[in-house]
Amino acid sequence: MLVFWDAAELGHSPHFFLQRGMLRRHLETPDRAAALLAACRAMGLAVAAPQPADPVALARVHTPAYLAFLREAWGAWSALDDRGAEMVPNVHPGAEILAGCAVPPAGIIGRLGWYTADTACPITAGTWPAALAAAATALAAADEVARGRVAFALARPPGHHAFPARAGGHCYLNNAALAAERLRDRGAGRVAVLDIDAHHGNGTQDVFWMRGDVFFASVHGDPDHYYPWFIGRRGERGAGPGEGATLNLPLPLGADDAAWLAALAQALAAIRAFGPDALVLSLGFDPSRSEPLAFLAVSDEGFARAGAAIGRLRLPTAIVQEGGYNIESMGRLLSLFLDAFLAAAAAS
Ligand SMILES: [Zn+2]
Repeated sequence: MLVFWDAAELGHSPHFFLQRGMLRRHLETPDRAAALLAACRAMGLAVAAPQPADPVALARVHTPAYLAFLREAWGAWSALDDRGAEMVPNVHPGAEILAGCAVPPAGIIGRLGWYTADTACPITAGTWPAALAAAATALAAADEVARGRVAFALARPPGHHAFPARAGGHCYLNNAALAAERLRDRGAGRVAVLDIDAHHGNGTQDVFWMRGDVFFASVHGDPDHYYPWFIGRRGERGAGPGEGATLNLPLPLGADDAAWLAALAQALAAIRAFGPDALVLSLGFDPSRSEPLAFLAVSDEGFARAGAAIGRLRLPTAIVQEGGYNIESMGRLLSLFLDAFLAAAAAS
């Protein structure tokens, strides 16, 4: 199994985010990627650099205006006389404003608010190159999977909270959605995206909401009490041609291995019933009980069991890294997950 990784992903290094009215140290740091890369090397996995992200592939998920914003944002911000070291919005257009005659403004402060969902996606000088590099790992992994293999995209920053035209929750480009679209373009008739990060994959759900060819299943903390707050509930099932092709399995605070693995089994049964040609896995380690902002309480063994259960699908699979913020444990969890996944996928 190839691991795709690009050192440009280290260039995004925000320092803080707002939580419960407090400035907190940002948890989505370059150390995360370094810990995962070290774990891959310790496992003896081959690490390859991806080709640069294809602009045509990016435009399959994201709007031209949003991509232009991300590309130009730091330059425009840097031209302001009085500014912080990181781009953080202080205003967003609400639903009534968007439903009216609102348009993206010309100035960078208004554009920043327009193209972000929250304050947890600061933009720094290295954000756009890092997001592009992360997207490139996901696209390269998808290309491997299109050849019938399994691949791991060591993607950072993560992607599953990014919408077609909006960043949010530490995410800028939706790496998993890009991988799924790439697989469709490479000939997969039906693709499933399984998201086991602790947070609902709201951006990915939005991308495929109306699609019958891409099944989206997410196992996550109850959004009544956890990010992304507004969507990710059981009743959300897709719409139009996508009706029934979205499955949300929210879990209560403190849900343990038994509850998490039961929800995962339900998601896997639905994926089997859908009959995909390939799988994209949004893999987060933040369901772990050792996480700094733990909501779920999954054990180390729980991740190994999840890896085995997903491996038993025996689908060509692009594993795309999402969250997980305990630097001490995430390398171990990745090894446990991948060992069990690869063993189950190889078993006859
Ligand atoms: Zn997460």
